[in-house]
Amino acid sequence: LRGVTRVFASGTKALGPFDLDVGEGEFVSLLGPSGCGKSTALRIIAGLLQPSAGTVTFPNGKPRIDFVFQDPTLLPWANAGETVRLPLDLARVPRAEADARAVSALARVGLEGFQSAYPRELSGGMRMRVSIARALAAKPSLLLMDEPFAALDEMTRQELNDDLLRLWRDDGLTIVFVTHSLGESAYLSN
Ligand code: ADP
Ligand code: MG
Repeated sequence: LRGVTRVFASGTKALGPFDLDVGEGEFVSLLGPSGCGKSTALRIIAGLLQPSAGTVTFPNGKPRIDFVFQDPTLLPWANAGETVRLPLDLARVPRAEADARAVSALARVGLEGFQSAYPRELSGGMRMRVSIARALAAKPSLLLMDEPFAALDEMTRQELNDDLLRLWRDDGLTIVFVTHSLGESAYLSN
């Protein structure tokens, strides 16, 4: 990112000018107090929001990007297997392959055998695991995470931090992670 700035129609300058380099395979945290523009930066990287000025470039070609939000954004009527499969269905991945990828993604986040569980049957930490599995099933190379663990209790958060580090190493992912926790950013990131 070079000189990335975002001014909203209300006149609020949400961000910038902001420069950032993220190397392939790095785990980078954006750390700062509420309202400093972290989510705005992440949305601009994702292409969900246009910068008012400045540029975002991907020197090695645009990566496959996935987004994990603070709210796990599950559907009350969809079980874990269907939830993880949804983006694959939308991408027209054949059913058998999508099913297999969903099962394997759930297993990788520690939810083996939970395909048929609905959100109401899952704890907060398990819901976030489903959300991460949904992102991983799409095989992103760049994972953007916006305070994904902020709503979880300290012990669950620590567990998910460790699991996320393992997934990051195993998949050679690049992660840009938003948090306002000093400890979490120091623990997780390059
Ligand atoms: P953070 O994620 O660091 O808490 P945000 O990026 O969400 O901060 O917001 C940065 C600033 O931009 C805040 O002052 C916020 O109120 C403002 N802002 C965010 N989104 C919008 C929007 N869609 N319209 C107007 N102002 C916004
Ligand atoms: Mg935010």
